[in-house]
Amino acid sequence: MADILVVTGTGTGVGKTCVAAGIARAAVRLGRRVGVVKAAATGVPPHDDAELLRAAAGCDAPLDDVCPVRLRAPLAPAVAADLEGVAVDPESVRAAIRRMSDGRDLVIVEGAGGLLVPIAWGWTIADLASACGAPLVVVGRLGLGTIHDTTATVESARARGLRVAAVVLLPESDAPQGDAERTNPASVARAAGVAPPSVMPRLSPSDAGDPDRLADAVSAALDVPAILAAARAAPAPTAATDALRRADLAHVWHPFTQMQEWTDPLVIERAEGPHVFDTDGRRYVDGTSSLWVTTLGHREPAIDAAVREQLGRVAHSTLLGLANVPSIRLAEMLVRRAPPGLTRVFYSDDGSTAAEAAMKMAFLHQQRRGEARRTKFVFFRGSYHGDTLGSVSVGGIDLFHRLFRPLLFDSLRAAAPPCIRCRRSGARPDCDACGGVDAAELLRTRGGEVAAVVIEPVVHGAAGMVVQPEGWLRRIADAARDAGALVIADEVATGVGRTGRFFAVEHEGVRPDLLCVAKGLSGGYLPVAATLATEDVYASFLGRFDEYRTFFHGHTYTGNPLACAAAVANLGEMDRRGVVADVERKGALLEAALAPLLRRRCVAEIRRKGLMLGVDLVRDRGTLEPLPPSLRAGHRVCMETRRRGVILRPLGDVVVVMPPLATPDDVLREIAAALSAAVDAVLPEETP
Ligand SMILES: *Cc1c(COP(=O)(O)O)cnc(C)c1O
Repeated sequence: MADILVVTGTGTGVGKTCVAAGIARAAVRLGRRVGVVKAAATGVPPHDDAELLRAAAGCDAPLDDVCPVRLRAPLAPAVAADLEGVAVDPESVRAAIRRMSDGRDLVIVEGAGGLLVPIAWGWTIADLASACGAPLVVVGRLGLGTIHDTTATVESARARGLRVAAVVLLPESDAPQGDAERTNPASVARAAGVAPPSVMPRLSPSDAGDPDRLADAVSAALDVPAILAAARAAPAPTAATDALRRADLAHVWHPFTQMQEWTDPLVIERAEGPHVFDTDGRRYVDGTSSLWVTTLGHREPAIDAAVREQLGRVAHSTLLGLANVPSIRLAEMLVRRAPPGLTRVFYSDDGSTAAEAAMKMAFLHQQRRGEARRTKFVFFRGSYHGDTLGSVSVGGIDLFHRLFRPLLFDSLRAAAPPCIRCRRSGARPDCDACGGVDAAELLRTRGGEVAAVVIEPVVHGAAGMVVQPEGWLRRIADAARDAGALVIADEVATGVGRTGRFFAVEHEGVRPDLLCVAKGLSGGYLPVAATLATEDVYASFLGRFDEYRTFFHGHTYTGNPLACAAAVANLGEMDRRGVVADVERKGALLEAALAPLLRRRCVAEIRRKGLMLGVDLVRDRGTLEPLPPSLRAGHRVCMETRRRGVILRPLGDVVVVMPPLATPDDVLREIAAALSAAVDAVLPEETP
């Protein structure tokens, strides 16, 4: 999403094009990729102004994009259009700006005449600036009448909620300057309540046609970096967006969100591939896969079609006492992709319920094979299995889970994989982040009480993308086996290709007794989860009805046909396109693009497996001293990436990057560029 700056004037012929071209060239010199749009040109041909702007920006866009509205009569555009018997369509100007934004980071829009000159009837450059949320640079002329003209423009801008980034005055002629010219800046400052306007020197005709001379003159008069920064500031929302925001603030209680600080919601309206769009049409990269769920991308034609087709049959039918077509197909597909031995598929709606079902199955299985003492679960520091009370009972994130302790059942907490501090010191102290009793040790000493070990294989996602060392999972699975405990693999985050294998347990050749899959299952379309079980576990629930071995557990929407149809299409299309096989390459590309961040003092490490990646921010990578929580560095970095058109969400001071699995390579590079710039913006003192 490009920043937009609108250059307008206090009247016609005041030198807007010179200023716009000068800013454009100065921005190019500052490394910005600049586009230019002249909102409407009258008195054409010739197209001198458009050509000058295009040359200054070094932009090769076609004339139709630089200058979408061209009219012959040298009049206000709406009037010139009337005389030609045509109508100006504001949308053609907005579309030109959108096209110009694509692949650039700044678009300079030059108005036609003054701020309130009608481009179409009822539509002015002020309306355009308002719709884009763009600040104004107001160009006026030095001399008599300047105080009124400039003040009127500034005041009408303010009345419309527009920001004025700068006011600049240009001399009209080579005539010697009198008292009016000399006193203008101070007088305008007093009358309009702005900083004293800058004055640009008068340029010779040849200099006025030379982008570099213009850039020199503009840079001498104006603080161009400050003006460009103003173009970045939060854009003004449209009225429709405003109404939605107010309603959201009034009624929607958001999850994992401090509502007291929830003041400025970004309202998403539609999406396409790796991008989402807000209600004002701004485009963002979905760098979190809409919380770790999107696989192929948004509006994936194969999944869209499958859901539509299923809608033509049945949206919901229960699995309690009935079967349905998509849930059967999906079960077959899951079993084919799962590690050997997992042959039974129990559906639910989300990750938490998949984990709950697995724990209940494990518990009853142990009871029914005569292991009455096995009532406990081993879980890990930093682990996350959902927010229902059962899954919170095996949750290892104190911030989320400790408060509910009185409501939870007793579980055995084991040490997490060694954190960066422990790895670096080579020791294994009883560290706050990862320390405690090793799971294998716990299973040796208290294994007889343990029904199952609940583990996120290979990556502890919510802990901050903590990647387990090679062999860690294997060792704990073996220890569980030796202790007679089951292994529950919670693949809610890691499953469906996220780590570069369809299931993460494949990296270690581990065969769990129970496996939970949810987030990516339907490709990010509809809630559906599954708990896969072995024949051995399944058999514990078989018997005559009046033996009451039935699994008395289920949710209303379990096995929902629409969601299962989306999942079937997702898995089929992922296979057809070989998506999982390409995840490691894409992940490595993303990591390489982010690697320069490791030179910053504030980046401790970049952790990654497949397309699960975390950038760990600290005060000092040497000492690993954390940043003060009050700084909210992770959150602020993500707000900065958002301004650069990339949506990310942190876990504390770990910035999580989890784009859709099929994100094109250039979009991955765009995420990396936005994140690097955002880190520099929030922690500038850390830049070398
Ligand atoms: C997200 C997550 C869950 C919980 O899933 P919900 O769909 O939010 O209930 C459980 N386990 C892991 C590993 C997760 O990442």
